[in-house]
Amino acid sequence: MLVDSHCHLDRLDLTPFGGSVDAVLAAAAAQDVGHFLCVCINMEDFPPMLGIAEAHAEVSASVGLHPNERDCHEPDVAELVMHAGHPKVVGIGETGLDYFRSTGDLDWQRERFRRHIAAARKCGKPLIVHSRDAGEDTLKILEEERGGEAGGVMHCFIGDWDMARRAMDLNFHISFSGIVTFRSARVLQEVATRIPLERMLVETDCPYLAPVPHRGKPNQPAWTRLVAEFIAVLRGENYELVAQATTANFNALFRPQIVSAAMDPLPLR
Ligand SMILES: [Zn+2]
Ligand SMILES: [Zn+2]
Repeated sequence: MLVDSHCHLDRLDLTPFGGSVDAVLAAAAAQDVGHFLCVCINMEDFPPMLGIAEAHAEVSASVGLHPNERDCHEPDVAELVMHAGHPKVVGIGETGLDYFRSTGDLDWQRERFRRHIAAARKCGKPLIVHSRDAGEDTLKILEEERGGEAGGVMHCFIGDWDMARRAMDLNFHISFSGIVTFRSARVLQEVATRIPLERMLVETDCPYLAPVPHRGKPNQPAWTRLVAEFIAVLRGENYELVAQATTANFNALFRPQIVSAAMDPLPLR
């Protein structure tokens, strides 16, 4: 069984699925994808997103504010820690640095990242780190704030082997998205070939970044399978081995509690 370690179920266009998240999850299950970490982008979207996780035993959630989000509620450390106490919340993020989509003086982004690291250390839950065009600063801040004590995942990793090695030295896993299947992704494919299986996760980041042969279409969790199969072929390993390892890694890192629906909703803010 596979885990989609990073998806945005609340952002999928459900029209092709008859309007139902259940149909999305069933399509994924048919492709051997049995668990889903639905990752938070901002606090405004957090309650409905958590609702999806509460309603589905196979869906976990995270809490955090994406580095590119502006003009929305900025959670402090205490607020992140409070939400992380919810039994369905298994990680802090997505957080990190993105110097590609945000420009200008980005001190606010670095401060936000530091707060998320502090929250992760405080609640003992792993970080979901997004990093784009900001590799050096991402590693530097993780080091300064002792992010390795919380550990976590470099999600949708797009760096080179040196960056991967340094992230792993800091106690981070490396997660591969559909980007690894792109023909232009030679450097990333080299990373996927070299990293130890016990440090690897797979994800879709859906609805973004659909893998080949669906590139450009809205992505869906079922296509985690295409990412895992592609990596297995790259490495000359069985798909089953990659599936087993990445799922075991996910469970060890995020320790999802398989709790079902009918929980009392937590008061928010
Ligand atoms: Zn991201
Ligand atoms: Zn994401």
